[in-house]
Amino acid sequence: MNKVEHIGIAVETLEAANALYTRLLGVGPYKTEEVATEKVITSFFRVGDTKVELLEASDPQSPIARFIQKKGPGIHHIAFEVADIRAEMQRLRQEGFELLNEEPKPGADNKLVCFVHPKSAGGVLLELCQSMPNSGKRKV
Ligand code: ZN
Repeated sequence: MNKVEHIGIAVETLEAANALYTRLLGVGPYKTEEVATEKVITSFFRVGDTKVELLEASDPQSPIARFIQKKGPGIHHIAFEVADIRAEMQRLRQEGFELLNEEPKPGADNKLVCFVHPKSAGGVLLELCQSMPNSGKRKV
């Protein structure tokens, strides 16, 4: 794993949270993006070499809506950047980690992602992410 790519934070409304983080970080989000498959709307802030991802549920059935119901807004996941997500998934499986998806799937910000179940990771939801090839941009 190369670095902490971003920290995901569940928020009730993106509008209020964007304003809060803009004041906090001194700079606004560089993108807002809906990830329909995850039923979330995200916004991304650059913080030096890493990022903060704010996540708002776009549907009451969204995992983010359920998270906020249970725990309230706050840190939702930590994402690690990996060079080869399939190899890393294989390695983690062999190490006994429970993965939440069998195959990498497209996530926000031009990534292939896979989540690791918090039960097998000390109570923390982990995301592996690999920059998508041919995405044209990227590499902060
Ligand atoms: Zn994320």
